[in-house]
This record gives sequence, structure tokens and C-alpha cells, in this order.
Amino acid sequence: MAAAISHLECSVCHEDFKEPKILRCTHLVCRDCIITWLQKGANQGCPLCRAPIFPRNEKQPSDYGSKVDSFPTDFVTAAVVESQRLLSSPNVCVCDASVEAKLFCFQCSIKLCSSCTKSHSKSPFTQSHTLEDLGTLSADQLVKSRHSFCSNHKDKVAEIYCSKHEELICLMCATCNHRSCSDVGSVEEAAKKKREDLKKQAVVMKTKEDTAVAKIRELDEEVKAATEKFSAMEDVVRAVFEDLQKALDVKRDKINADLCMRKKAFLVERGTSKANLESYKTGLAGHVSLMGKLASAPDDAMLGILTKLKSGLTSLQNQGVSGFISSNRKVGHLALNQASVNQLKQLLGECVCVLDSQPRRQQQMVKLHFIH
Ligand SMILES: [Zn+2]
Ligand SMILES: [Zn+2]
Ligand SMILES: [Zn+2]
Ligand SMILES: [Zn+2]
Ligand SMILES: [Zn+2]
Ligand SMILES: [Zn+2]
Repeated sequence: MAAAISHLECSVCHEDFKEPKILRCTHLVCRDCIITWLQKGANQGCPLCRAPIFPRNEKQPSDYGSKVDSFPTDFVTAAVVESQRLLSSPNVCVCDASVEAKLFCFQCSIKLCSSCTKSHSKSPFTQSHTLEDLGTLSADQLVKSRHSFCSNHKDKVAEIYCSKHEELICLMCATCNHRSCSDVGSVEEAAKKKREDLKKQAVVMKTKEDTAVAKIRELDEEVKAATEKFSAMEDVVRAVFEDLQKALDVKRDKINADLCMRKKAFLVERGTSKANLESYKTGLAGHVSLMGKLASAPDDAMLGILTKLKSGLTSLQNQGVSGFISSNRKVGHLALNQASVNQLKQLLGECVCVLDSQPRRQQQMVKLHFIH
């Protein structure tokens, strides 16, 4: 039974509901099940949705039993469970489990055999009861025939409702205890009025629900739009920094190429200067040693040699070391001056603060800076 009709099954005991209590979240749990559940851990909330069982600001009750009894019982579900149980139980009479029952009494909620039916119909206490053939008895009939009983007399059907005390009562209680109550009437009448109220309340709540649904949709849309905007901004940041990186790479390569060229020219020029200077030095050294020899040579020999060496000596005497070194070839300075360093710093600073307001224009601006 329980497996087939899951909405009649308690989520704690996994059996058909026994005295189903309506929790604040509107979920149903058997009375005893919710008490056991609370005794295990009062703060664990509804077994189905974890919503708090008691209002947050309320003190935890010491006696769960009476607290749970104050929760409303779902009589409709209870009646459906009861009717299912009755219909699925064997049709045997209350007098003897081996005797087949033929009829069902709605008021007594019992199955009767033929002979018990006779005495039931004769008794002045039960002769007015409504009987139904067990062959045609339906769950719907059982649910509809269910009676509420007087809140003071559990065996008397409640026919009257006192609006002042919000109580279902029997005729006797109405005349004895509620005589001075102003709004006492039939259960049907009171129910009709309440049903109208319920309808109105449901309309109000439905409107509120619709508003909440609309608001949730609005929030979702807002989040979606913002997510798109953020990711667009991320794209801009990525693009800006890619541009910056490209521009920096170009600038670096240009500076490096320039440095490389200058280095090559410098080395070539200095190499030539050194080679020339070496040959000048060798010439000087040769002449110095020759002159040493000539100092002790015979007069005529010295004079004859000197005449032949005259042009070479003059050229060596006139030449100086400075003539071999190019004065304009220097390492020089790096072209990357303080102004361009400042420009880069400013650019990066602006990126961070301007991006969130005008990302597109900023990207444009960054590009322009590097075109120059
Ligand atoms: Zn249960
Ligand atoms: Zn719940
Ligand atoms: Zn009866
Ligand atoms: Zn019987
Ligand atoms: Zn009563
Ligand atoms: Zn009353």
C-alpha cells in the first residue's frame, strides 16, 4: 500500500501516515515519528526539507509531545489512509474473524456480517446508522463519510461549530456550554464561510507567490546580465594587456636591435684602432732598437743610414697615439628616456581606474598611445 501511494507515506517510518501532523513548512510526518525525530536532535529541522520545526525565536519546548499535539493534524490525509486501510483489510465481521462481513457502518466504522447487521439495525442506538454494501464501498465514500467528533465527547459526532471558541462540538455541548456564544452554527455553514475565506487567502498568497517568482526571475536575469558584463570587462582587460605586451615586445626588440648595431659598430671601429696602433707600436719599437745600435755605429755608417731612414723617422715623430682612436665613437646613452617610462606607468595606472566605467574607450585609448 505504502509503496503504491507515496503521498500517503511518512518520510520517517516509510509507512502509511499515523495521525499526520502538518509542520510549519507544510510537510507531513506522523505524530510519533516527529516526536522521536525531535528527541534525536531538535535542531535538525524538517526530515524532508530541513526547514526549522519551531520558529527560530521560540524557546525549545521541554515536552515535545504536547508541543507536537498543538500542530494541526491533516484529517484529510488521515481519512484517506484510514479508508485505504479499511478497503485493503479482509472483509470479516467484528463478531468473529472467520465470519464474512457484508456491510459497512459509516458511523461505527465497522464491517458487519448478516446476523450482526440485523441486531445493529434493531438497536435504538444504531438503527439510524448508514450502511453500505462492502462490494460497492469506495475510498471516496469513506473519506466523505468521515465524522469529526465533539472536542469534549470523543464518541459524539460534532454537528455544531462555535466560531468564538473555534471548536467543533456536539448538540449537547452547544446547548450547555456555548449558550451565550454569539456565533454558533452548523458545521456545514461554518465550513462554507471558512472555505470562502480560504479562497480569498489563497488568492492573496498566490499574488505574493507570483511576486516572489517574478523577483527571483529578475534576480536571475540581473545576475546573468552582470556576469556577461563582467566577462566583457575581463575580455577588455585581456585585450588591453595583450596590446600592451605586444607594444612592449616591439619596443624591446627595437631597442635591442639598436643596441646590437651600436655594439657591432663600436667593436669594429675599436678593433681597427687597436690593429693600427699595434703596427705603429711595432714601428716605434723597431726604430728605438735601431737607434740604440746607431748610437755606437761608426760616424759615416750612422750618417748614411740616418739619411735613408729620414722620411720614416719624420712620419713616426709626427704621428701621435691620438691619431689612431676615433674620438666620436662612444657607447652613448640608451634612447629609452624617463618620459617614455613615465608614459608606460601612467598608462597602466589609468587602465586600472578607468576600466570599470568605460572599458571600450579605454581600450581605444591604449591602442592610440602605442600607435605614436
Ligand atoms: Zn511515520
Ligand atoms: Zn519540510
Ligand atoms: Zn453503526
Ligand atoms: Zn457478525
Ligand atoms: Zn460534546
Ligand atoms: Zn462557544
